[in-house]
Amino acid sequence: MQTSSRASSALSLPASGHVAYFSMEIAIHPAIPTYSGGLGVLAGDTLRSAADLELPLAAFTLLHRKGYFRQHLDAAGQQTEDVQPWNPEDFCAEEAARVAVSVEERTVVVRAWRYDLVGRTGHVIPIYLLDTDLEENSGWDRGLTDHLYGGDTNYRLQQEIVLGMGGVRMASALGIDVNVYHMNEGHAALLTLALLERETGGGIPGKVTQYDVEAVRAKCVFTTHTPVPAGHDRFSAEQAGRILGQERTARLQEQETFKDGMLNMTLLALRFSRYANGVALQHGKVSREMFPEFPIEFITNGVHGPTWISAPVQQMLDEHVPAWRRDHVYLRSVIDLPARAILEAHAQAKEALLAEVASRTGMVLNPKVLTLGFARRVATYKRANLLFTDAERLVEIAKAAGGLQILYAGKAHPADEPGKALIREVVERAQALDSEALKIVYLENYEWELGAQLTAGVDVWVNTPKRPYEASGTSGMKAALNGVPSLSILDGWWIEGWIEGVTGWAIEDGANDAEEAASLYTKLEKAVAPLYHDAPEKWATLMKTTLSINGTFFNTNRMVQQYTRNAYYPTTEAVHAKVEEAAFAD
Ligand SMILES: *Cc1c(COP(=O)(O)O)cnc(C)c1O
Repeated sequence: MQTSSRASSALSLPASGHVAYFSMEIAIHPAIPTYSGGLGVLAGDTLRSAADLELPLAAFTLLHRKGYFRQHLDAAGQQTEDVQPWNPEDFCAEEAARVAVSVEERTVVVRAWRYDLVGRTGHVIPIYLLDTDLEENSGWDRGLTDHLYGGDTNYRLQQEIVLGMGGVRMASALGIDVNVYHMNEGHAALLTLALLERETGGGIPGKVTQYDVEAVRAKCVFTTHTPVPAGHDRFSAEQAGRILGQERTARLQEQETFKDGMLNMTLLALRFSRYANGVALQHGKVSREMFPEFPIEFITNGVHGPTWISAPVQQMLDEHVPAWRRDHVYLRSVIDLPARAILEAHAQAKEALLAEVASRTGMVLNPKVLTLGFARRVATYKRANLLFTDAERLVEIAKAAGGLQILYAGKAHPADEPGKALIREVVERAQALDSEALKIVYLENYEWELGAQLTAGVDVWVNTPKRPYEASGTSGMKAALNGVPSLSILDGWWIEGWIEGVTGWAIEDGANDAEEAASLYTKLEKAVAPLYHDAPEKWATLMKTTLSINGTFFNTNRMVQQYTRNAYYPTTEAVHAKVEEAAFAD
């Protein structure tokens, strides 16, 4: 790939070279099932904004030929899974380049499929999907890039070799000039090993000097995404020795990338990065507590506006605030819109959602009734059942509010039995509580398009994670960009986005689940329902302040600009600020 010199740009960039962005999952296109949830959606939105902002960047991921699973729920809410194979030739072009990696002392050949992601001005971000399904490889190795988060930890480590080491070699084979390697989560941390081996002359390094380590660190940045310990990939010394090789494992051990006897991919990424960040203010703090040796900063996540704002709201914005497409800061002007404009645009999005619900389930919901949305990857810390802590009270609130409708969706990882049990519980409760006043629907197969319809079409977005396990969360941001307020636990992004009664409501911290549920009920009963029913003008103001205040900030255009200024190409001030922070550390 030729790099032309860059004279001017909205961003302050070096004259040439690319950011190479590595992510195990990327939500590229609604018909390409290569993502499981928040991490992949964030990666996709990052690339969409990078394309809109004309950032020179190339992305690397795995092909995931069999796709992430399609969820089926039976009448009792029991989840079963089907593979979702897809055909790369329908979307991508095969590159001629081939590279090799070593897995369990076998040579595995890797190719890449290129997907061109085009920004609003025509700037292209190439996404390279790495693929081992080649005749040169053994049957087992041909399947290494089939399943996202499938198989055991052996399979995972083998995939991480393909992603990290294969990706670095592929970037070179394609002639991409890379200034910065960005590891989006620890899955790609082995890219640092490939860079270290290049630094020490190719092949397995003999002696690694501090100079070699610094040379790698100068090129790498890392984003950690979860405060849940299980979210950090770890491999035993035995596994690492067998799969990566004894010598490589010994090198990694010398570089202090093992914790509690395990190769820790977060630690590996941190050791070899010159910059590291969490994905929200609080997540930065939690990450520093988990890894106190490292000055982990934060850049709060966002979502890509044109991807997640519903068609009627986009039309409203184009009519009243056309500059928003060029510069999302202009979303601030939404404050000045007529109440009617936002109420009507939202009514259309809600109607489209309820039509989708009816066509999927046969349930006909009432567009006039207060409708809550709760959809996310089902993990126990997200507490999908918190709303049912006191079912009688929920029913009373629904009656007093003139009805209440709650829409649920979310997949549990196939191996997550407690998560699957949670889905069954919500489905059982929905059936048991079904009445004139209270309608609860669990929608099957939560994916991109359903996610967009839900966040745009409900009246209030609900989030009930157990603090502090939500690193950021992004679905509430999608809602905010549609003018939909949140009712949430003060965790993740909501700590930064919450202004009581202006952008939504906080569920107050309690000593236990029951206390937090009680706060949720009180807010619903005393604040949300009366405002919705008795004061449409005030509700319209709430929607406008939500979009105006949170839409201007919680978008990936702002986020990518922050990555550019602080992580990829730090300005001198940013470097100074870091020195100051280190001197006055918390
Ligand atoms: C936005 C989105 C997510 C991530 O939502 P969180 O609030 O970050 O958990 C997951 N899955 C789908 C389909 C989405 O659209």
